[in-house]
Amino acid sequence: DPILEMRGISKSFPGVKALKNVNLVVRAGEIHAICGENGAGKSTLMKVLSGVYPYGSYEGDIVYQGEERRFSSISDSEHLGVIIIHQELALVPLLSIAENIFLGNEPSRMGVIDWSEAFSRTRDLLKKVGLNESPNALITNIGVGKQQLVEIAKALAKRVKLLILDEPTASLNETDSAALLDLLLEFKRQGLTCIIISHKLNEIARVADSITILRDGSTVETIDCRTEEISEGRIIKSMVGREMSDR
Ligand code: ADP
Ligand code: MG
Ligand code: MG
Repeated sequence: DPILEMRGISKSFPGVKALKNVNLVVRAGEIHAICGENGAGKSTLMKVLSGVYPYGSYEGDIVYQGEERRFSSISDSEHLGVIIIHQELALVPLLSIAENIFLGNEPSRMGVIDWSEAFSRTRDLLKKVGLNESPNALITNIGVGKQQLVEIAKALAKRVKLLILDEPTASLNETDSAALLDLLLEFKRQGLTCIIISHKLNEIARVADSITILRDGSTVETIDCRTEEISEGRIIKSMVGREMSDR
């Protein structure tokens, strides 16, 4: 059953048609990779989905959990568990891990922020993402791999149902990348649906159940990895529109 259908999505910026009639179907509980060369429209598509670009600024329909959705803001989509982690992390440098996770959403008691509650919830969340750090640690004092895990912990705090990761391993080393992908596979076992943008084909081959390929703002195809053999050559050909040897 699909958890998400994006139908005929088009989105323009001055002088650029970033998305042209794009379709995307994501099954509940799968890891769905979105592939494409730089500028293909991957990030724009996910910004449409998560309300960064609100209803009215794009054409087409979004059906999420069986209903047509017209998100007017990021908080609108977050409310239904659609959480996007952008390529540029949204963490606040001078704040602690706990403050970053609960920023603007702090647990309170009788109108006062309850930091002991926030810290204990943070400890639980950090355990879930496999991060062995104090909730007190400053976000700038942990590495980018760990920062990415804090973003995921933050998504869990918001009760994520559809997690969108825009090139999450772009600035991670091999060890941190592997840990992140393992975590996604673990979340999948627990029922989470995930969309991951990546052009690292080895990573995609490892985690993806489906792959949608975008080229020049259009959907090229969706490959079902359960029934189709995927090869690097095939994906690259689909991404660039010609045999690799022609490049
Ligand atoms: P990808 O994530 O696949 O690299 P993007 O979705 O970021 O691609 O960009 C798709 C196209 O839209 C590119 O031509 C890009 O330059 C353009 N674009 C993206 N965001 C903006 C923006 N905010 N303003 C103008 N053009 C944009
Ligand atoms: Mg890009
Ligand atoms: Mg992008």
